[in-house]
Amino acid sequence: MRPEREQLSALTHGSENYFGQLGAVAPPVFFSSLHVFPTFEEYMKAATGVDGGAYIYGRVSNPTVRLLEQKLATLEHGEDALVFSSGMAAATSAILGTCKAGDHILCMRDSYRPIHRFMAQVGKPRLNMDISLVSGQDLQEVRNQIRPNTRLMILESPATFVFSVVDLKAVADFCRERGVKTYMDNTCATPLNQNPLDHGIDIVMHTLSKYIGGHSDMIGGALISRDGAWIHDMRHGVREWLGGILGPMEAWLAIRGLRSLAARLAAHEGTAMQVALFLESHPKVKRVHYTGLKSHPQANLIVRQMRGHTGLMSFELDRPPEDAVKMINALKLFGKGCSWGGYESLALCPMYGAGEEELIASGVTRGLIRIHCGLEGADNLIADLAVALDII
Ligand SMILES: *Cc1c(COP(=O)(O)O)cnc(C)c1O
Repeated sequence: MRPEREQLSALTHGSENYFGQLGAVAPPVFFSSLHVFPTFEEYMKAATGVDGGAYIYGRVSNPTVRLLEQKLATLEHGEDALVFSSGMAAATSAILGTCKAGDHILCMRDSYRPIHRFMAQVGKPRLNMDISLVSGQDLQEVRNQIRPNTRLMILESPATFVFSVVDLKAVADFCRERGVKTYMDNTCATPLNQNPLDHGIDIVMHTLSKYIGGHSDMIGGALISRDGAWIHDMRHGVREWLGGILGPMEAWLAIRGLRSLAARLAAHEGTAMQVALFLESHPKVKRVHYTGLKSHPQANLIVRQMRGHTGLMSFELDRPPEDAVKMINALKLFGKGCSWGGYESLALCPMYGAGEEELIASGVTRGLIRIHCGLEGADNLIADLAVALDII
């Protein structure tokens, strides 16, 4: 992992105003639903003024929330950012803030599944939107699926089951030429390992609930863009009206998470690299999917657009899917649960209930095991995995 100098500044002191808060090194949490003004005239000036930075009502903006937004904008090389009460609130707001009824959306097949469900149960039946699933790796497929009313391309790279990556610049260029906005879920890479806006992507989304929060104790989401006017319109539009702003306490937790993000990620990456090499050399393991391995089928592209890796990977056994379940149940240090990005290790078979079609499209079996390598130490995790692999 090679965070940039400006990123390390943003994680620590960036956008802070210590002496505006009595020199406190931790920002105050502004638990206030509204802000008052000395006179009604001053209130009216703030409420109707062009100054988007004025604090009036907590569903629109809040000083603790604003500090987090400024840090995230710097981290992702954007002009501005918005934070939401969850990653899904950010994702669905991005769709509603770029598309209108009757529009068509292209979406990566391997992207976060709740987006597909939102489109199937809200976008399609209620807003007459259509969605086409594509691999994201094949521009010819995108060319075949694109329509005159295609408005948005939804991407995720690396995707969080098999860690395939998308050529961001190629897709962004292709879409821009055709008037299609590009949206990319950058949660998996984190802003320290990849900056999609630099490759021409229009909107970056992050779940704060994973590495940014970092302690499995909060839910939140973010959108970042180089188009400050669009962010301004979203702040005083879709986010204000849907009411999905992040709470001040969660904003404070995310700011605290950012302080140690570079240190935590370095530890997650170092551990995961050792775990991936152990798994790759194990006779019962058929395939390891990790962006940090030289054996990754897109290793050249990864080096071009990513600066490092995280603690997340998946692997397949040389055994039937039932053995994968037996194996993860034998793990002691890996909790059986979804999500990732916290201090703790986790294991899951995310495709266990998938249909045949989905398995063929992803090119994996039902027995795919995804693990998150937490901060318990590589030796402890490898010992735990070795025992569980021995059992099957
Ligand atoms: C968890 C996750 C989300 C959803 O975020 P929430 O904060 O749970 O709404 C979206 N994308 C990816 C890649 C995720 O892992």
